Amino acid sequence: MEAGRLWTAICGIHREARKTETKWPNRDALRSVSKGTQFALHSQTIQAVVECFVTTIDTTKLLRKTHPQMGMRYPWKEKRFYPLMWPAQAVHVEATRIVLPMGRGRKSLVIPRPTGFPDTPGGIRLCWNGAGYDLHMAVEAPTEAQSQATGGVHATVDLGEIHQAAIATNTGKALVISGRGIRSIKRYRNVALGQILRLRSRCEKGSWRYKRLGWTISRIMHRTLRQVRDLRHKGTRKAIDFCVANAVSSIYVGNPDGVRKRPSGRKHNQRMSQWEYGKDRQYLEEKSRKAGMECFNGTERGTSSHCPSCGHRHRPKGRKWACKKCGFRGHRDVVGAVNMHPLAYGEKIAFPSQITYRRAGITQGTKQPLRSARRSRPDPGLGTSGPVLSRFATGPTTQIAGSPQGLGQAEGLHLEAHPL
Ligand SMILES: [Zn+2]
Repeated sequence: MEAGRLWTAICGIHREARKTETKWPNRDALRSVSKGTQFALHSQTIQAVVECFVTTIDTTKLLRKTHPQMGMRYPWKEKRFYPLMWPAQAVHVEATRIVLPMGRGRKSLVIPRPTGFPDTPGGIRLCWNGAGYDLHMAVEAPTEAQSQATGGVHATVDLGEIHQAAIATNTGKALVISGRGIRSIKRYRNVALGQILRLRSRCEKGSWRYKRLGWTISRIMHRTLRQVRDLRHKGTRKAIDFCVANAVSSIYVGNPDGVRKRPSGRKHNQRMSQWEYGKDRQYLEEKSRKAGMECFNGTERGTSSHCPSCGHRHRPKGRKWACKKCGFRGHRDVVGAVNMHPLAYGEKIAFPSQITYRRAGITQGTKQPLRSARRSRPDPGLGTSGPVLSRFATGPTTQIAGSPQGLGQAEGLHLEAHPL
């Protein structure tokens, strides 16, 4: 929040200059604003925030010139939060801990040093991800060539939205991990948010009720974020366990960048835009490295539109791949993974004879978003738990007068309306 306050201060000065059409403050002028003890941050952190602001201004200036149709605005919004940043020279790495200074006279942030943490890291950034803190670190990319591993067992991974991952090895085994749990959580979130936003659009902005609906939104967002992350980890864990069990030495993860860009309807577009395959790729990479496997990624262009047995080109409609030429039939995502083998390892493999299906994890049914929104514990100190949450009741519910301390509402009991 302190960094957010700094950003807001710098932004205010710049905005004022734009408004009054005086000379825009440059880097040094902005830096001098934050001199002294005004902000409880390390001087290098302050500099980093200023640097980010200046970069934003420069980028906006450029984009306004080259892409006027984008209607880019200069920074104007107040920020409540901003990541804390430390350049490499401000970070102290000791034997068992990492010390991040917060400025003279203030306690430093001290984090236990994870195994494998380099002695001389690059810049560091501390970010809030909605569920916890992430520590981002700049590292030099290793320049080793992507090895064309020969020999050993290879696997290719086709990431998908319907199925989180489909894996095919060159030993005739395949695994399909369903993305059903993740999809159902996201669907629940979209429906619930839609309903709340509809309610909120009828409230006066800034009113108590408006605020409370805002808190409900953030609670739902954070909870579903954690649930989805959990399932992503469980799914990729199953994928890597499968690879370990099959003695895989090298994994190729296809990059589905092209798929997402294709516009194909409102619902589908929403699903595609919420598909976080980058996370899957990252988790697979981390987990496979830990298991001692080689992991690399590259294009998956055309892998899902060719027949694995005769090469006939055909874009499948449903989840089943059926070749019109040779009569081949198989699972669409496994077809994608099989076709990746020639791209990744330069060898054609036969369609797997044995396909295992797994779910990422078991989640409770989320068919009734309204009910589970109601079930969430009321915040203590927000007065009665009633008004906001009880609005989410589906059927004919009613608050029975004299029910013990409104317990029915707090515990989410479904009270049917009876003629009293
Ligand atoms: Zn065919």
